[in-house]
Amino acid sequence: MNIVWRVIRISKFHQPLESYLDDIMSKVYFAGLRADGQSTNIPSKIQRLLEASQLNSVFTEGDLVAVKTHLGEPGSTTFLRPQYISPIVDMIHRKGGRPFLTDCNTLYLGGRSNAVDHLNAAIRHGFTYPVIDAPIIIADGLLGMDEIEVEVGLKHCRTVKFGTAAQQASSIIVVSHFKGHLMTGFGGALKNLGMGFGSRSGKLEMHKLAHPTVNQEICTGCGSCATSCPQSAISIVKKAQIQEAKCIGCGECWVACPTDAIGPQDPKSLIDIQEKIVEYCYGIVKGKIGNIGYMTFVVDVTPHCDCAPWSDSPIVPDIGILASLDPVAIDQAAADLVNKSRGLEGTKLKHHHSPGDDKIRAIVNIDWTAQLRYAEELGLGSRAYELIKL
Ligand code: SF4
Ligand code: SF4
Repeated sequence: MNIVWRVIRISKFHQPLESYLDDIMSKVYFAGLRADGQSTNIPSKIQRLLEASQLNSVFTEGDLVAVKTHLGEPGSTTFLRPQYISPIVDMIHRKGGRPFLTDCNTLYLGGRSNAVDHLNAAIRHGFTYPVIDAPIIIADGLLGMDEIEVEVGLKHCRTVKFGTAAQQASSIIVVSHFKGHLMTGFGGALKNLGMGFGSRSGKLEMHKLAHPTVNQEICTGCGSCATSCPQSAISIVKKAQIQEAKCIGCGECWVACPTDAIGPQDPKSLIDIQEKIVEYCYGIVKGKIGNIGYMTFVVDVTPHCDCAPWSDSPIVPDIGILASLDPVAIDQAAADLVNKSRGLEGTKLKHHHSPGDDKIRAIVNIDWTAQLRYAEELGLGSRAYELIKL
């Protein structure tokens, strides 16, 4: 049974978050990865980005500051390494805040579907006190049921449900790894915040539109999808067969299929999922105006997200680190930087290698701009941005 602590009613029901970013709207700070000494190493660059972007001002002394990141699915090796998070935690300590690392449990089976497995995975990945001077708090508790329900009254969701720690933290710094994603085209700040902070029932609600179908002509009957399905909804009778009544639309079978034989029944559902994620962001940001900031690492840009228990080769060279108070601008900037890069041969990116080609869409044929358009419409930020290179 879900523990719903309370339903929070927000005053500007239905209203866009108009001008909450004021004059800092659309500034995205960027640091490249070239280094020729200690002053240009990554911790130094992170420090300068935190100051320039004013991420060091989204909290005050004594605040409980959530550092929302992904602690790494066992088997993946391209989640953000703890050494990238450590300078952010150190800055929060220096300014008198009380940082903690946080994420919510996953919907699918795997190494992070409950807090015990999740913490064990994090520790194995180096998120420990000798590396990062902060505790880890799984935001939605032992089984993903410690949730807060916030009324938003938007197009898809009347309420959104996310982990209690997300609501109870005074401030949030959203630290994201930019990479591809089978359902949303890419995963950046919006996805890390909205889907990442969704409780189990929240994640179920966001995913439920994405029921898959099997292309029987391509399916080889290998069974990888059936093994990965958390609902035992797939049986193999020469080819994969899906029992719709059991399916929760988690998408694990898409990720597992080596031949791309599984995809959504209705491509529009992938637009709806992006918009639901944005509505979850709205529910969180609404309660944290002035107390939330974003840092995104455009490195190890793999075709799949960090929830996959493996890491494929990156599709573009490492690019750099971004920081902003605007989640829409930072996602747009990261996507633009990836698409302006030259694509890497011998990767899942088989074509569209030239600078300027839409590499995200070449990997997953999804209109990834839907999340950005809708987030802008709801007043979460701006797709127009100024890129300021440090
Ligand atoms: S059939 Fe696919 S989308 Fe449905 S529950 Fe199983 S793994 Fe998830
Ligand atoms: S993983 Fe793909 S190819 Fe293998 S059985 Fe499932 S749908 Fe068919």
